[in-house]
Amino acid sequence: MSKPVNPQTRAVRAALESDQQHGAVVPPLFLSSNYTFVGFAQKRQYDYTRSGNPTRDALAGALCELEQGSGCVVTSSGMAAIHLVCLLLNSDDLLVVPHDCYGGSYRLFANLAARGAFRVRFIDQTDPAAVSAALAENPRMVWVETPSNPLLRIVDLAAMVEQAHAIGALVAADNTFLSPALQQPLRLGADIVVHSTTKYLNGHSDVVGGAVISADEAVHAQIADWANTIGVAGAPFDSYMTLRGIRTLFPRMRQHEENAARVAEALVQHPAVTRVYYPGLTDHPGHDIARRQQGGYGGMVSFEIAGGEAQLRCVLEGLQHFSLAESLGGVESLVCHPATMTHAPMEPEARRRAGISDTLIRLSLGVEAADDLVADVCAALDRALAIDAVRATAADGGR
Ligand code: PLP
Repeated sequence: MSKPVNPQTRAVRAALESDQQHGAVVPPLFLSSNYTFVGFAQKRQYDYTRSGNPTRDALAGALCELEQGSGCVVTSSGMAAIHLVCLLLNSDDLLVVPHDCYGGSYRLFANLAARGAFRVRFIDQTDPAAVSAALAENPRMVWVETPSNPLLRIVDLAAMVEQAHAIGALVAADNTFLSPALQQPLRLGADIVVHSTTKYLNGHSDVVGGAVISADEAVHAQIADWANTIGVAGAPFDSYMTLRGIRTLFPRMRQHEENAARVAEALVQHPAVTRVYYPGLTDHPGHDIARRQQGGYGGMVSFEIAGGEAQLRCVLEGLQHFSLAESLGGVESLVCHPATMTHAPMEPEARRRAGISDTLIRLSLGVEAADDLVADVCAALDRALAIDAVRATAADGGR
């Protein structure tokens, strides 16, 4: 019996040497929107790129293998992937969603529910009483985002699956924050995985894309049918780029994580920081679950800064090796203010309920040298801390 192939090897070798015509090592990029028929009513494997494309299929195959699903639909964005999953629901169906999910997902769920597409209940999924109360309402689907964006809350996927399946509900997991290199929700029993491939999977901040991977073939067929019907499939060039990114996914994730752990430790020590959210810290409430269900703690760290707008500005605008920008998961480090950026689509009250404060800062650690990132963050925090001292001296008449 042959030895099982390590997923890292699969990620590197996905679709290599698939070119039959020239023997190209890397699969060619098929940009053509259409394909000739062999003759009357004689369609080839592909006829029209909205419905199917060899480059997109190569990416779908790689994602399907990495998440261990039975089918994958590659979409034009993460939001398109999430929308496709919503199309499995009818107007009477209830969808249970974490109250601290990505702001764009929150907006989509809330707006579709407001138009009667389905019913939605936003809950704290780390609160067992809230989960039991929501499941008692017989939802059709439970949406899980673990670790959550931006607070890195951890949901026990296997436990949620067990409870949801007991009442016949589907479980869909947004695996964007970890990628299949560090977590495979389908292996833990989830029915559907979605990704914003914009993030770690592509990894270079030059593609917007998404994917839906289903455990069950019939669910996959339904999603694939909707993707073709409404035309949200990913573009061939984007698919080519994303597949190229996936080849380095595993080593990138290791470096993202190493840098995140180093920066999280530095943040914990710094007096300008009042709270650090990183599942790798042993006092993180989800640490034990994360250690069990994840292959690592990932590259995202959030923290609360002491003070107000002056201190926020000092960090957000003063970092040298972090770009102040939306998104995450690229090789370059980013800093973000969720309340005015990624989570601006949530009403202030919904943000408050979810625990997303105005002084929360989110970091996406890239793959730069850890020492540079730690030094940069500490220097910006030192300057933020000095603001009050400078003010106090000024109020004191400079004495
Ligand atoms: N899911 C999560 C967890 C995200 O962070 C994002 C975007 O930030 C999305 C989904 C949406 O993905 P996209 O921006 O590719 O549409």
